Amino acid sequence: MNTYNRFPLTLMRGQGCWVWDDHGHRYLDAVAGIATDTLGHSDRALRRSLSRQLRRLQHVSNLYRIPEQEALATWLVQHSCADSVFFCNSGAEANEAAIKLARKHGHLKRSIDRPRILTASASFHGRTLAAVSATGQPRYHQSFEPIVEGFDYFPYNDIHAFESLLVRHEANGPAVAAVLLEPLQGEGGVHPGDAGFFQRLRSICSERNILLILDEVQVGMGRSGQLWGFERLGIEPDAFTLAKGLGGGHAIGALLVNARADVFEPGDHASTFGGNPFACTAGLTVAREIERRGLLRHVEERGQQLQQGLQELVARYPKVLTGVRGWGLLQGLVLDQDCGVTAPQLAKAALEQRLLVVAAGAMVLRMVPPLVISANEVRQLLRRLDATLAGLA
Ligand SMILES: *Cc1c(COP(=O)(O)O)cnc(C)c1O
Repeated sequence: MNTYNRFPLTLMRGQGCWVWDDHGHRYLDAVAGIATDTLGHSDRALRRSLSRQLRRLQHVSNLYRIPEQEALATWLVQHSCADSVFFCNSGAEANEAAIKLARKHGHLKRSIDRPRILTASASFHGRTLAAVSATGQPRYHQSFEPIVEGFDYFPYNDIHAFESLLVRHEANGPAVAAVLLEPLQGEGGVHPGDAGFFQRLRSICSERNILLILDEVQVGMGRSGQLWGFERLGIEPDAFTLAKGLGGGHAIGALLVNARADVFEPGDHASTFGGNPFACTAGLTVAREIERRGLLRHVEERGQQLQQGLQELVARYPKVLTGVRGWGLLQGLVLDQDCGVTAPQLAKAALEQRLLVVAAGAMVLRMVPPLVISANEVRQLLRRLDATLAGLA
């Protein structure tokens, strides 16, 4: 169906941070399947483990125990504040699970009749009906009303706005089941969370037994230079969701939850494909390779190199660029409102320099390369971006 604005480009194969089109032209890929190809394209470890898994078993359903699922869950629990994991197939689906969990927790633990969930404006939580309702961007709701009820929005990183919204809702007793936020807003324009805001939010939620749920779909699994975005904020959530980078390019999503917040019982939630052996082998390989190759440190270093290079571009093109925002290998280059070019236009122009980048909103150009990008490849990325900007002038 006609649901995508596609670039005029057909990609045929990839290797590491590079992809080739149907004419044999080679592009540097700073999109990486929208922050999914954690280990780059056609990674050797992933190829090996997945072909072995294909020969062994692909899918059996959750009617039976799945050792690959248990192994990935064990790794995730050992490396985070969570105690249990529900697997699904995408980010939106992971957030749907989180929303159901939050509502049940609100009913059960705070005796709320019609529990509400507070989320941020300019957020992004996915395109299914509840996830899009949680998304604080009216343009995503338009044409699909009525949206799911029970969501209220406040400006991101604004503790006073949050507190006044909470006080308004809870004037006559408990009403709010959860707060759902991204640790860094990705699609909404690459806005990093403020540690002071999140720490205050954490203590308010704990005081009232309101769940603090983080949407780590874009930031989690190492992209920020820490395994989880909340490590950069100095807090621990009650639950968090994963998808994009978890499978290294394969479809998998997850809801991770702390024991105190885990109110799901058999029959509450399910997914036919969720946690299948193939997807979980992909996730487990990504997890192990992040550790084996020391990718967190690598992301931190390459992220600094990228951010510094982008700052130099801002200095070189002050009429077009106003700043750089981001963590690790999730960086946004902010365009001037009056520069006469939008981020989607700039991303299209970059194709001529054989560079793949993607917009995050109208005025932010986003770079989310594979976490394995080398220092030389970061230099190439910056050089190609420089040439793209020079071409505009
Ligand atoms: C991409 C994204 C989603 C949606 O994930 P899908 O796999 O496309 O459903 C949800 N939340 C955040 C923060 C995302 O970046």
